[in-house]
Amino acid sequence: MAHLETAATVLIVGAGPTGLTLACSLARQGIGVRIIDKSTEFQSSSRGKGLNPRSLEVLADFGLDRRLSAEGRSRQLFRKYFDGVFVTDTDAFEDARPTPDAPYERGLFIPQARVEGMLRDVLATYRVEVELGGELVEFGQDEERVTALLASGGRITADYLVGCDGGRSTVRKGLGIAFPGSGDPETAMVCGDVVMEGLDPAYWHQWFGAKGALLLCPFEGSDSWQFQASPELDEHGRVIEPSLESFRRIVARHTGSTDLRVRSASWLSTWRVNVRMAERYRVGRVLIAGDAAHVHPIAGGLGMNTGIQDAWNLGWKLGHVLTGQAGPGLVDSYQEERLPIAARLLNVTTAAMAAVTERSRTPGVGLEVVRSEDTTGLAIDYRWSSLSRDVHPAGPGDAPQAGDRAPDAPLLDGEGRPVRLFDLFAGSHFTLLAFGCPAPRLAGTARAFRIDSDAGPLRDAGGHARRAYGVQGDALILVRPDNHIALTGRAGDADAVLSYLRELGR
Ligand SMILES: Cc1cc2nc3c(=O)[nH]c(=O)nc-3n(C[C@H](O)[C@H](O)[C@H](O)COP(=O)(O)OP(=O)(O)OC[C@H]3O[C@@H](n4cnc5c(N)ncnc54)[C@H](O)[C@@H]3O)c2cc1C
Repeated sequence: MAHLETAATVLIVGAGPTGLTLACSLARQGIGVRIIDKSTEFQSSSRGKGLNPRSLEVLADFGLDRRLSAEGRSRQLFRKYFDGVFVTDTDAFEDARPTPDAPYERGLFIPQARVEGMLRDVLATYRVEVELGGELVEFGQDEERVTALLASGGRITADYLVGCDGGRSTVRKGLGIAFPGSGDPETAMVCGDVVMEGLDPAYWHQWFGAKGALLLCPFEGSDSWQFQASPELDEHGRVIEPSLESFRRIVARHTGSTDLRVRSASWLSTWRVNVRMAERYRVGRVLIAGDAAHVHPIAGGLGMNTGIQDAWNLGWKLGHVLTGQAGPGLVDSYQEERLPIAARLLNVTTAAMAAVTERSRTPGVGLEVVRSEDTTGLAIDYRWSSLSRDVHPAGPGDAPQAGDRAPDAPLLDGEGRPVRLFDLFAGSHFTLLAFGCPAPRLAGTARAFRIDSDAGPLRDAGGHARRAYGVQGDALILVRPDNHIALTGRAGDADAVLSYLRELGR
């Protein structure tokens, strides 16, 4: 029987958070995207349970902000015990407050499966569904297209293929991309989702001591907890695979309590420390993103977040190339920008893992050490990128530069209604902010807005936008579709803005 050959403009392999974010970005731009996953059902486990503030900004761009804040928990208290005895309660983000330039002061605790479900809902609004049971086994490419062979025998041809297929990526291996780093089969953790009896769900309970660690993290609106613990070892020192019974023994050993009971357990798995990253992210028309490109220690909670942000960076670039708004060279800037970020964040998560391990052995301290500018994602910049251009700084001193994250700010529209800069940025277009000067006419999908202090259709009445962008006098700030600054200039630099956008189109 002849197998079916079908087509896509972009074929995404893997429907985890990375693949789904990329699919949403491409579908929103009207690109013919297909997304396949070898699983026959959607995964339901909590795994990556912490979205950082930058990922929240990305997901808000897809309109998910209300749902996320309704279903997740932003204020998560930590309760620490040492050798079974209560030590302290801490709030790692106690002093964090939303600011006009950053609406999310803290991350959000929410099971990964729920975030994936929300992204699938966004995708469905563009009439794109994940194709379950679609396992990629092989692929080949020439200058014009990629051909993917599925386990079913079906073939899909596409302009581009993106492997978002996790740490054991078939796509990365098929491209022959090395994945150097270190793995430590000895350092393992058993994980699962459990239903608990007798535990206060206001806290992420963390038991440490000579017996290792047990962490039980609750979720909003659910009786399920994420279970993470040092594993039990057999008489040869080998990890005993997790089971409901082993989870019950671990809980009894750490808590010494007979009131705490594990009622049921699902997604029983063993996680081993692996710190690796791919040597390149692209070969011809095939790219990789997320865990396929880098795997992290779980401390610092950056695996899923880095994947979402890879996809956010790649999505607009592939979209602009495929809609003819940019030349194919734009796709090269994906590796140029994201590979150094992965390298930096792997150091951050490795250091966080070591710090957590060290602090877990210390009786009187909590675990707030893992919070830093890097873990919020807000300080990530691409100043070195070939896409970043500072023609003239918007102001003196430490004004944001090209490559930096473009800050938010509250404004008023012509009728005095509140509007945010992030509302103007939402979507896949470039946005030009003209502070105190006329905005030049831009071609294509790019949008330009004049912002004045005290008059006009957009008023920066509180001066928040000027402060956020460090503007003194007049300024032109061009913002990329992924909300990073592309270009900074003064009122007289309109030609530089036009030529930047023209060059991108070549
Ligand atoms: C206990 C635990 C806690 C964690 N906590 C955090 C946290 O707090 N914050 C955080 O950011 N991260 C966390 N992570 C990491 C996070 O879960 C991963 O980084 C994230 O899942 C990576 O997303 P991804 O989409 O790149 O890959 P995955 O989620 O691994 O998705 C890959 C998909 O590809 C599919 N696939 C694989 N091969 C093929 C093929 N050949 N054909 C078709 N489909 C294929 C798979 O079925 C899968 O659905 C945690 C992980 C664990 C285990």
